Amino acid sequence: MPQAFRSICVFCGARAGVNPAYASEARDVGVMLARNGWRLVYGAGDIGIMGEVARAALEAGAATMGVIPTHLMSREQGRTDLATLVITETMHERKKVMFANSDAILVLPGGAGSLDEFFEVLTWRQLGLHGKPILLLNSSGYWTPLADLIEHIIAQGFAEPNLREFFEMVPDLEMLETRLIAALG
Ligand code: AMP
Repeated sequence: MPQAFRSICVFCGARAGVNPAYASEARDVGVMLARNGWRLVYGAGDIGIMGEVARAALEAGAATMGVIPTHLMSREQGRTDLATLVITETMHERKKVMFANSDAILVLPGGAGSLDEFFEVLTWRQLGLHGKPILLLNSSGYWTPLADLIEHIIAQGFAEPNLREFFEMVPDLEMLETRLIAALG
């Protein structure tokens, strides 16, 4: 039987951020997904670095799946040219569908939405509800304050030290690709 299609769920900003390196690294991620034959699962929008990942992935020939709630179709410029587009009723449903269709989770720089998505999959992992790898790409050190916050949470006794083991922060694209290949084959 052929090996199952590997899909990476990418959570990231619907904005570009102030540092052009974020968008540039997001495009590199899109190309990296295509190079490895992995499918991009994402929020279906055409804005911010979310749009950059998808554009680069599509141009490089990656398979794509977008998941977006009806009410965000115009605000986030939902793409209708993806191999698969799922339109949901709610934000909760969006996260559920993205998660269910992915083998690994990747978080690029983003805002409150990306944090919401990250913490949801992290807490599910903490509860033993799944074992999917969760990787954060620390583009230009963007997520370092988040790593510090998690250390603070552990130090103050609001999480077990093993919370650290449920996600991995990688410094660059090379390390990200190495980790994903090791996890997904
Ligand atoms: P942000 O990181 O704030 O730019 O948001 C990134 C993406 O997450 C955007 O597509 C938002 O629409 C989406 N988002 C924000 N909050 C939620 C949520 N509670 N459930 C699902 N998606 C969300």
